[in-house]
Amino acid sequence: MTLLRGVDLHGDRVDIRIDGGRITEVGRLTRRPGEESSDRGTVRPGFVDDHLHLHALAAAVASLDCGRTRDLAAALRMAMVDRGGWVRGIGYPGDDLDAAALDRLHGSRPVRIQHRSGALWMVNSLGVAALGLDHADHPGIERDFSGAPTGRIWRADDWLRTRTLAEIPDLGDVGRRLAGYGITAVTDATPDLDPATYGSFLTLPQRVTLLGVPLGDSAPAPLVTGPYKIVLADSSLPSLPELTDRIRAARAAGRSVAVHCVTREALLLLLAALDECGPPGPGDRIEHAALVPADVVGELARRGLTVVTQPGFIADRGDEYLREVDDPDDLYRVSSLIKAGVKVRLSSDAPYGPLDPREVIDAARHRRTRGGRIAGRNERITKRQALHAYLGPALRPGSRADLVLLDEAGSVKDVFIVGQRTPLRLAPRARTTVPYRPQ
Ligand SMILES: [Zn+2]
Repeated sequence: MTLLRGVDLHGDRVDIRIDGGRITEVGRLTRRPGEESSDRGTVRPGFVDDHLHLHALAAAVASLDCGRTRDLAAALRMAMVDRGGWVRGIGYPGDDLDAAALDRLHGSRPVRIQHRSGALWMVNSLGVAALGLDHADHPGIERDFSGAPTGRIWRADDWLRTRTLAEIPDLGDVGRRLAGYGITAVTDATPDLDPATYGSFLTLPQRVTLLGVPLGDSAPAPLVTGPYKIVLADSSLPSLPELTDRIRAARAAGRSVAVHCVTREALLLLLAALDECGPPGPGDRIEHAALVPADVVGELARRGLTVVTQPGFIADRGDEYLREVDDPDDLYRVSSLIKAGVKVRLSSDAPYGPLDPREVIDAARHRRTRGGRIAGRNERITKRQALHAYLGPALRPGSRADLVLLDEAGSVKDVFIVGQRTPLRLAPRARTTVPYRPQ
């Protein structure tokens, strides 16, 4: 049992008793013998990050960040290799690399570089050979007109993991970093998870929901099997009947759907497919909704859909978006969705977007780009709205004890998940690389 004494909860100074993972009492309470206690501070629900990628987040720490590298060849030359002997880069902003182009940058060790969207890996010729792409059978392997692999591989993370000897990353450190940000629950949005990886999620203190559990399977408790993730790849959209079939299959397996939708075309296709499938499921979600035309906002509300969005991208990449879109209000809308009655959840999409909820909230409030411009001023929301869309359920007697204790400066002092005090570790600012280990 734990007693939080003299804490601020919704503006009232109270004591809070936690027992069996729940808040049992709130009021003026007397400490019981043997009861652990914490004094003063402000208590609020933990953040719920409803869309991120846990294994990629763990792996990102041990990778070369290609996002802000000016001389990629030099950076690759200096980079350490992972246990499979690969140089691994992430966050590359272009999709212009293939095996030949990568060979010119670095040809002496196998290299794999991930596009910053997470959807594409680009490997050099040694990488093509190490993966056996010539004879491999995976639909994501891009081939030229003669059937030879180009070195570009789409949406094949789990397949690549087995081929590159990459370990399933240990998520303990990720769990402590998340706790340091006051995050008490997460949803992993990686599609098509390999059931062999479920065990790794059990090492996190956070409550974990998985969207990538294959249809017909379910993740072991306390992991939660969430809606079924469907990716509408921007480059090759499915036909309407194909998408309708996939949604029907999820419904038949008792799952709602969580559909990755970045473009207008994908969004309109999804709405048409949902209409074919009858009334939407209560848990149906749109992931990202990166571009929503104004006249579609009402359509989302009418169908009772939840939008899980990442305004953090506006702060991170807003200047590029501004060059590409006609109306910046269409980008990662939040305010108009809330006004129309759409359920909105904020999230990070880490490691592809910033993980820190405060950065995401600032981006939702100000929509200021790195270049200092405001991308879509009508879509800014208040801090209160942002917190409402990011925090877990309100704390009251009977509710789950997933909560954060803040000090006077508003910094995270302590985190309780399922009533258990959770060790904190804030993210180190600098990335680290793994030491070289010859194979
Ligand atoms: Zn994602």
